[in-house]
Amino acid sequence: MADLKLTGVSKNFGSQAAVRDLNIDIASGEFVVLLGPSGAGKTTTLRLVAGLEKPDAGAVWIDGRDVTTMAPALRDVTFVFQQYSLYPHLNVYDNLAFPLRSPLRKISEDAVRAKVLEVARMLRMEDKLQNPATRLSGGQMQRVAIGRALVRNPSVYLMDEPLSSLDARLRNDLRLELKRIQQDTGATMLYVTHDQVEALTLANRIGVLDHGRLVQLGTPQQVYQDPDTVAVASRLGSPRINLLARSDVPQLPAPDGVQTIGVRAEHLKIGPANSATPDSVSAVVQRLERLSDQYLVHLRLKDRAPEIIVSCSPAHVAHAGQEVQIQFTQCLWFDASDQRVRA
Ligand code: ATP
Repeated sequence: MADLKLTGVSKNFGSQAAVRDLNIDIASGEFVVLLGPSGAGKTTTLRLVAGLEKPDAGAVWIDGRDVTTMAPALRDVTFVFQQYSLYPHLNVYDNLAFPLRSPLRKISEDAVRAKVLEVARMLRMEDKLQNPATRLSGGQMQRVAIGRALVRNPSVYLMDEPLSSLDARLRNDLRLELKRIQQDTGATMLYVTHDQVEALTLANRIGVLDHGRLVQLGTPQQVYQDPDTVAVASRLGSPRINLLARSDVPQLPAPDGVQTIGVRAEHLKIGPANSATPDSVSAVVQRLERLSDQYLVHLRLKDRAPEIIVSCSPAHVAHAGQEVQIQFTQCLWFDASDQRVRA
């Protein structure tokens, strides 16, 4: 395994800046997940590491070597795409064996067989080894695609939403498997997803990209609890963080220059209409959403537009149309350019 470093990497497509001055240092054995909206530059970042794109500026380093001008095949990375890419004329066994039979590798057939069987066991595909690749379910095909990356034991794994085409159950299973395999093998992993559960459970660190820039890199806990921008605060958390204009809640204490107040659903408390305090806010319940062990209460601040969501236990739930008082137990402050204001 190896460490991976990008220094000052930029990539433009015509006038479109896909990646801007990206600096990231990933330790050997680390699992880094890139999150960001569509078009943020996540796939381009993976392609730059793989050598499928050439940066306009900056350098890519793998295991201490500058690989910026090196051909993809010589970089010792594997790339798992969102859409499985199997050889349709080969069976599962030969698909898994294919990367090992490259003339560059010179591996004996016995060693190939041992590795293929080991990976097939990991992926619970031993009974499918003789199936033609075309006679598999979508989930099985994607497992073979992941398996083809695993047999190679590369320095760095690059994965671009590898689980997104799977159904929920398989996705959960394979997410746990991937984490286990990564821990067992000590693989260095750069992984792209839109799924925040995946990001939170897999990552040692999460990098949030926005318009081609890395806006924050930190542990899942840091990124969730201590976001640097509105974009980062909005990326993690379900339900999404509530964002209110400062002018909507003038009664809340906040430093000068704060324009937006962010508050997560679990940091709001509902009380009865007669529980007003100087810094509570009145609201009217719009509707309720029942989750397994709690409710999400959708509220509208009196006479004002934004709807906010509070999570609460069944014991404290209010009904639609009811007037309530809201206490803000923890807030995040942002300035006019959506940057965090810390006290
Ligand atoms: P998604 O989540 O939708 O896959 P992403 O974060 O992976 O998005 P990229 O695919 O890296 O985003 O694209 C970043 C920007 O670069 C986008 O504006 C995209 O349109 C542009 N782009 C990417 N590849 C090319 C290309 N080959 N030619 C022109 N523009 C491109």
